[in-house]
Amino acid sequence: MKPVIAVSALRKTYGAGDTAVHALRGVELTVLPGEYVAIMGASGSGKSTLLNMLGCLDVPTSGEYLLDGFSVADLNERQLSLLRNRKIGFIFQSFNLVPRTSALSNVELPLVYSGLRRGPRRARALAALEMVGLTDRAKHLPNELSGGQQQRVAVARALVTGPAMLLADEPTGNLDRASTAEVLGVFDRLNALGRTVVVITHEDEVAAHAHRVIRVDDGVIVADDRRRHVGVA
Ligand code: ADP
Ligand code: MG
Repeated sequence: MKPVIAVSALRKTYGAGDTAVHALRGVELTVLPGEYVAIMGASGSGKSTLLNMLGCLDVPTSGEYLLDGFSVADLNERQLSLLRNRKIGFIFQSFNLVPRTSALSNVELPLVYSGLRRGPRRARALAALEMVGLTDRAKHLPNELSGGQQQRVAVARALVTGPAMLLADEPTGNLDRASTAEVLGVFDRLNALGRTVVVITHEDEVAAHAHRVIRVDDGVIVADDRRRHVGVA
């Protein structure tokens, strides 16, 4: 099986000389299609830096990253953003929904530049909303939805383009317990349907849903525990 993520000897250094910060110091990581991975670590351990690399939001100082088989190092800014849009569905702590715009239109947004016509676009957005259990809220505005529902709209928006993986950064950081359970239930269901999910979190409750828990400390992976053999050939 071709890995979704294949990272080797990945380093990221901010600044130079005496003030250089070695945020990643040689990360090795392979994630296969269908895996559900949690990345954990203390504040300052390098999680966000790793997310920025995996999400093609920033480039490493050295090392190799193949995203769904494509070598990220060889790409320019424009190619990187194309790859990012095609391959990754981002979910952030803040939902970043467009206000005064329906849930359906929010989910449709990533498809606007895809060349799809309005009809098929709408159909795909509705299918994505159905996957997160929000068919009956399609016409609602973000401020008419609970936090958990808003984050589920954001998840639908992330998966509507059919990305190779969902990459979530503290997706439940702004949610209460009930909403957290709601969103984690959606991740569970999507993964059961074969979606690759990578979630950065400091919450044990979130990590408990993943099938593989990776711990980062001081810029390196110090633990990598598989709980179930999901997505592993
Ligand atoms: P985490 O997300 O686990 O809290 P980060 O990846 O944000 O960790 O940070 C790892 C290290 O890199 C920290 O020492 C942090 O201060 C440093 N760092 C992060 N981003 C930058 C930046 N843009 N410039 C300089 N140092 C940074
Ligand atoms: Mg961080």
